[in-house]
Amino acid sequence: MGLKIILLGAPGAGKGTQAELLVNDLGLVHLSTGNLLREAVEAQTQLGKEAASYMEAGKLVPDQVIIGLVEEFLQKVGPSGCLLDGFPRTLAQAEALDEIFKKLDMKLDYVIEVRTTPEVIVQRLAHRLVCRSCGAPYHAQSKPPAKAGVCDSCGGAVVRRADDEPETIKKRLREYQEKTAPLIDYYQQKGLLITVNGDLSREATYEEIKAKLGVTGK
Ligand SMILES: [Zn+2]
Repeated sequence: MGLKIILLGAPGAGKGTQAELLVNDLGLVHLSTGNLLREAVEAQTQLGKEAASYMEAGKLVPDQVIIGLVEEFLQKVGPSGCLLDGFPRTLAQAEALDEIFKKLDMKLDYVIEVRTTPEVIVQRLAHRLVCRSCGAPYHAQSKPPAKAGVCDSCGGAVVRRADDEPETIKKRLREYQEKTAPLIDYYQQKGLLITVNGDLSREATYEEIKAKLGVTGK
């Protein structure tokens, strides 16, 4: 039985990088709800068609549909390991997921929380820059454009993304913490929670994940 893992992390915690590393090292099937929705819509499954009808109407896809898709995904994954990334987001979803695991006679092995300090994330994200015209990414410290404020490839204006303004980041972090805190408690009580320090470099955070999972090699 491969490992079944949930990855939780605040915006800016580098969750995407950690997910990629874990998926590659442990040979996990990666579930992100975004991809799951896209694939179901393309494949025109019954749930996919239902999801499409909400998305076309500009509405949020309801929990019930997402949960159905997750169940189909887990059924397909079977004994292979998988990483759930971006699901569950709420306590209700976590409880539904428990039901799915029970129904499919599977078990969840770990929930990894990449924990961060808001001030550190604000600092980290405040240095991200982007070209307003072509979208080329820059970083104020590690990858600044040759001429300050001007894109190397297209000459467009290099600015901080609106999403990365300190006030916006703090608001997003607060929202994340409010929504996710009950999930953290929930999994802690089940003895599944592993918390790692997301304030470190991505490499150091990943080393901590591997050490706590007891994964060796690579
Ligand atoms: Zn540009």
